[in-house]
Amino acid sequence: MLLDSFGRIHDYLRISLTDHCNFRCSYCMPVEEMEWMPQSKLMSIDEILSLAETFVSLGVKKIRLTGGEPLVRKEFPEILERLSDFPVELTLTTNGVLIHKHIDALKKAGVRSVNVSLDTLNREKFHKLTRRDQFDLVWENIQLLLKEGFRVKVNAVALHGMIEDEFCDFIQVTEKLPLHVRFIEFMPFAGNHWQSKEVVTASQMLEIAKEKFDVSKLEDKKHDTAKKYQVPGFAGTFAFITTMSAHFCGDCNRIRLTADGKIKNCLFGKEELDLLGALRKGEPIESLIRLSISQKHQALGGQFSADYEKADPDKIENRSMINIGG
Ligand code: SAM
Ligand code: SF4
Repeated sequence: MLLDSFGRIHDYLRISLTDHCNFRCSYCMPVEEMEWMPQSKLMSIDEILSLAETFVSLGVKKIRLTGGEPLVRKEFPEILERLSDFPVELTLTTNGVLIHKHIDALKKAGVRSVNVSLDTLNREKFHKLTRRDQFDLVWENIQLLLKEGFRVKVNAVALHGMIEDEFCDFIQVTEKLPLHVRFIEFMPFAGNHWQSKEVVTASQMLEIAKEKFDVSKLEDKKHDTAKKYQVPGFAGTFAFITTMSAHFCGDCNRIRLTADGKIKNCLFGKEELDLLGALRKGEPIESLIRLSISQKHQALGGQFSADYEKADPDKIENRSMINIGG
């Protein structure tokens, strides 16, 4: 069992398969020139499997594949298939644009739930934000996932100047479609020029929702990062990921493994330990994992406080989101 010094059990691993991506979302990638990891620094399939096996032996029960865009990694189907042999819940966060190519592999591996990122329902805005004209394909792939029986969560980063206009449209979509839309408060990462005034909080969004809809609060489960709501009678739900305005670190069970094999005990943590380097030298991994978990800060990687308006992005040391694996 992986227990930190605050009594939190860590049983959920998020593995980044690559830092590469076929989209260019400005809130995720450094605005300046992005330096991609060289192939030799990425974990190979066998290395991913070996590290995952160690985590599973230490009590990990859920593995999420992420990136960069996990589906751009050529070996994705093989990695998925081999991970499906472990006794874990296997899941995926994706921008959705390659889903149609992998739908059979996802079904075969027993994946039941997929998170698809989609920040706007407007084709032009989508193109501008991702720098790719792929809205139609992403939307079709969301429908495909639903048709094939997957539980689909849609992740929308609440971007100031955009979400205010679209928020109610997203909720409206949940009337007929059983989608679970999650509005994520904008978070600071290296190179994304975060400013506190750009954060649209859950309570601001909820006020907008209540002007148009009857809204019911749903019960949240342990370890849920999202605070869930529903318009009674609608097929889907909506939720807020309130990392900035009301963090949920007290209940955190998450560990991250970057595409270059570093363990991060927190999304915002600057401390990393090199599991891949140790694996390649034949050194023990378990003690490094335990050390990392034991050093986890109480909240927000120890880098800023719950009062996010006081956070100084220039003082936060971290990778860009695309490099971490969200
Ligand atoms: N490419 C995949 C995707 O877009 O879903 C997986 C990786 S992406 C880094 C994982 C999630 O992080 C996405 O839902 C994305 O919207 C979210 N994300 C990226 N940068 C963010 C930021 N600055 N604040 C909040 N969420 C962010
Ligand atoms: Fe790529 Fe996902 Fe980041 Fe967008 S959010 S640039 S799709 S990794």
